Parts: sequence; structure tokens; C-alpha cells
Amino acid sequence: MNDVASSLGANDLEALWKPFTANKQFKSQPRLYVAAKDMHYTTNDGRKVLDGTAGLWCVNAGHCRDPIVKAVREQAARMDYSTAFQMGHPGEFEVASKLALLAPGELDHVLFANSGSEAVDTALKVAIAYHRLKGEGTRTRLIGRERGYHGVGFGGISVGGMVMNRKFYGSLLGGVDHLPHTHSLEHNAFSRGQPEWGGHLADALEGIVALHDASSIAAVIVEPMSGSAGVLVPPMGYLERLREICTKHGILLIFDEVITGFGRLGASFAAERFGVVPDMITLAKGITNAAVPMSAVLLMGEIHRTFLDAAAENAIDLFHGYTYSGHPLACAAANATLDLYRDEGLFERAAELEPYWEEAVHSLDDGRHVIDVRNIGLVGAVELEPVPGKRTKRAFETFLGCFEKGVAVRASADIIALSPPLIVERAQIDEIVDTLREVLKTID
Ligand code: PLP
Repeated sequence: MNDVASSLGANDLEALWKPFTANKQFKSQPRLYVAAKDMHYTTNDGRKVLDGTAGLWCVNAGHCRDPIVKAVREQAARMDYSTAFQMGHPGEFEVASKLALLAPGELDHVLFANSGSEAVDTALKVAIAYHRLKGEGTRTRLIGRERGYHGVGFGGISVGGMVMNRKFYGSLLGGVDHLPHTHSLEHNAFSRGQPEWGGHLADALEGIVALHDASSIAAVIVEPMSGSAGVLVPPMGYLERLREICTKHGILLIFDEVITGFGRLGASFAAERFGVVPDMITLAKGITNAAVPMSAVLLMGEIHRTFLDAAAENAIDLFHGYTYSGHPLACAAANATLDLYRDEGLFERAAELEPYWEEAVHSLDDGRHVIDVRNIGLVGAVELEPVPGKRTKRAFETFLGCFEKGVAVRASADIIALSPPLIVERAQIDEIVDTLREVLKTID
């Protein structure tokens, strides 16, 4: 260890530049977790914090679950790594088969990556290449949506619709259009579950097709429920309509289910919950219960077949992949996680808890500063009236206040998002909501 390294301890916070963090504020008031179990974190000063956000929408089965810990530990000792290119290991086939069984419709093939951002870039590339192999090489345009979040790669921020994630980074991908987002305080504030207003907004896709012609459009990508932008629940009929228009014009439909997958909406995927099957699903987070980074693209057999049919014997069929695609530790974690979800019936548990959750979060409808409350599955959002000229201040202070009182919530702009692990107990739902209500009373 060199002198500099040996002089640095866990208490020296300078070297690390934390992502999506107010670094100046953080370093003046650091918040450190040192352990986690089931529904709670432990801070470095020994306090327990109830996890109201499943980490970052990812620890769906609760923290440090024994079967997952055991599986990762054993795999680390047995085989640390094997290359994904031209070689395989049993774990990756097992996870892929389980995902194919879990997924709706003919989404029966799987490509692995390591993060949601990588899964999104993978899906966008596959969509463009697929059309080219089908003899429709003019289909290169990608359609995203305002307020969409698809990670931080250039593909993801290009189709994404959150201005702060885009505006600093140049001209982004060319040939991208955006659908309007579906949230309206005027028309669908305080909706319970899917809003009744807004299904017609899917028709904007027809306008984009009329402008550019279908022959130029490769894919539409949307989160079935926008998570990071503050929980925008799809209006009734909206996803069905998008599906219809995509099918009519030969456009691939991609659901980004990085948040909505693995029980968050009380079903394996949002596609199952809403009964709308896309051509590809991107997933990450809950696949390993966040124990090891992993993501994937689920795609229709027909897409996979097109690539294989185009390749000569002994020739590579997809020029894409990552050093750590299907990493053995990630596969061990995913296999154990998928078994745990099944054995404990956690997706069904989320569905059963949904009515209680809905009542609890909507008890905040008349909370201080609250201008909207929305919910679906085990997701809730409380939107606060912004302080004039100081956007984000109120939600950030609410987040800090809840943390002080032992509950982790997530602040996104002026919205507090809630998404506890699916093992949450009713009393813990009450604790999350009551803490939030009390903290809102104390902030300006
Ligand atoms: N897509 C969606 C819908 C997400 O919510 C996220 C992350 O929250 C991503 C993509 C990016 O995932 P990652 O941070 O693992 O790159």
C-alpha cells in the first residue's frame, strides 16, 4: 500500500465522487450504511433504518437473504469467472431458462449484461440490427418518452426524457423522437392504481409515424410504469394502444422493466400485470435481489432466430456482449433469487398487500405540502408542492428528515417515491407512511 492509500481510512471522504449525489451536502453530512438484514439497514453510528425503497428499487426479497448469500459464497469458491464469448457455464443457462419460463408470451430468449443501462443499449442495438437483417435497414429511428429513464448510456439518455440527465452531454443519438409523458396533475392527480385519463396519449405515436413514416422507425421504448421520474402509472388503455400501433406499423415495442420486473407490481413483469406483451423486455435490479450486478434483455424467439438464420455455420451471430455477461457470481445470485421469489410466493404477496398499501399511501392525500399521491403494486409516490424558485428542496429535506427518523425514502425532484421490499409487514408500511406524514409537518 502506498503512503497515500495507507493514510486514507473509511473516514476520509474526499477521493470518492458519488453518482447522482449532492456531493457537497453529502460530505458535510455523510450518511453511511455498514450492514443490512431483511427490512433494515444499520448505519455506521449503529442506528437501524427501515428500507422504504428496497435499496434502489432492487432488493425485492429483503436484504442479505441466506439462500442468496450462500449461493454467491459457494460460487465464488467454486469458479470465479468464465468468459461469456465462445464458452459457457451451467449457471447462465439455468438463469436464462428460468427467465424464459417466467416471462409472458414468446419472450423466450435472453441476453445478459450487467446494468440496466447496458440492457437498454443492448435492446436498442438489437432492434436496429434485427430490422437490417430482415431487409429493412432504413428502420433506425428510436422513440422514447418524456420523463422516461433508461439509464445513463448514450442510448439510454437519448431515448430517455429527463432533462438533467441529457442536457450536459452533447447532441446524443440522432434520429430519436419522444412521446408525451402521461402525467397530468389536472387530470389524474390522486389516482388509485391506473388513472382513467390519458390512454389517448399513446396516439401521439401515430403522429410520429405520420411525420417520419413507419419504414424509418425501429423501436419504441417505454417503462410500463415510469419509476425514476417519480412514479407515473400508465393510464388505462395506454399500453394496449401502444402495442396495437407498434404491431400495425412493424415497430418493435420494448418495455424497460428494470424497476417493474420481479414482483414490484404484484406479477412477474408489468407485461403480465397489464396483459400487454412487448417484443423485448429489459430487466436488472431484482433479478439478483441486487446482491451482484446483473441485467438482461428478454426477447422474442423470432428476433433470436433472425440473427441465427443470417449467420453462417461457425460465424458469430451477434457482435455485442460484455466481459461480464452471465458472470458466474451474478448467475448464482439470480438462480437463488428466482427460487426464493417462487418459494416464498413474493410476487403474490405483493399483489395481496397492494390494497393495504394503497390505503396507507393515500392516507397522505391531505398531508402537508402534498399535491398528488399515486400508487400501483408496491410502489407509491407523494408529490410535493415545490418551494418557489427552489425546486427539489422540499423532497430532499423530507428524505433527510425521514432518514434521521429511521426510514429510507427516495427523493426525485419534488416527489417522494416509496417501494419497500416485498417482504414488508403491514406494521412497517404504517411506520413508513406515519414517519413521512410527521416529517412533512416539520419542513417548510
Ligand atoms: N431503466 C430503468 C427503467 C431504470 O429504472 C434504471 C435504473 O434505475 C435503468 C434503466 C438503469 O439501470 P442501471 O442504473 O443499473 O444502469
